[in-house]
Amino acid sequence: MATQDSSTQAPPIVPRAMLDVLREARRLVILSGAGMSAESGVPTFRDAMEGLWEKFDPMELASPAAWDADRERVWAWYEWRRGLVQQAQPNPGHLAIPKLAEALKKVSGHDVTVDVITQNVDDLHERAGSKHVLHVHGSLFAPSCCLCGRGEQFAGAPPSEPVARMPPPKCRYCEGVLRPGVVWFGEGLPNHVWRHAEQLIVDCDALLVVGTSGVVYPAARLPVMAREDDKWVGEINPNVSDLSDKVSLHWQTTAALGLTALLDALRGEAVTRRLP
Ligand SMILES: [Zn+2]
Repeated sequence: MATQDSSTQAPPIVPRAMLDVLREARRLVILSGAGMSAESGVPTFRDAMEGLWEKFDPMELASPAAWDADRERVWAWYEWRRGLVQQAQPNPGHLAIPKLAEALKKVSGHDVTVDVITQNVDDLHERAGSKHVLHVHGSLFAPSCCLCGRGEQFAGAPPSEPVARMPPPKCRYCEGVLRPGVVWFGEGLPNHVWRHAEQLIVDCDALLVVGTSGVVYPAARLPVMAREDDKWVGEINPNVSDLSDKVSLHWQTTAALGLTALLDALRGEAVTRRLP
């Protein structure tokens, strides 16, 4: 997807139906996908195949078979991607999300929780200030032991230049080594993570789907589940996606423009409410 410069575009008009629903919501869930990170300049999975990596197929690096065949190559690719993410910054869409709960509370007069379910493996939501972020596809920043499964922190910075091979660090608890903390092709989502995501959908009043193509399962099931449960589902996406005809409302705009406009509109309503 092409990135768009949000600074030169007029703010979009927030659909009235979206404001009407969100004004009543007590539990809002935001499901974010690759489009949201792309607006921050994070290369998508496929775009990350340049330079040293251009002769590889990402499908052949992001799988248990690739890991078994050449751990040092796979680890080096993920370390390079971690470095790319560290150079990127949260965009205005990421930054608006942690401010939505307070803006909604001022408009509605009741407490509002905003949870994020993301398919992205970067940490831009966290760096923007969101506290409740569920990474259904794992995270580039949460390696774990390939044998005992214990999580571990990174000891150092990723290399500044791409390297073809890097030995993965050893686990401090067992004979294993650390593996990237992401869900690979051919792997299921961790049960507890998926159950948590399902529960968030069951408990929410409204779901906002932002920058996801709706083609990666099972994550793409979440908006459908919400609709089956008669929840309102809004989509923010500059493109028509596989979800667009399944949601309650498709708002054709980017994450950065749309979420910023939404926050501004809610804050405007809050000010209006205080006027005599
Ligand atoms: Zn271990």
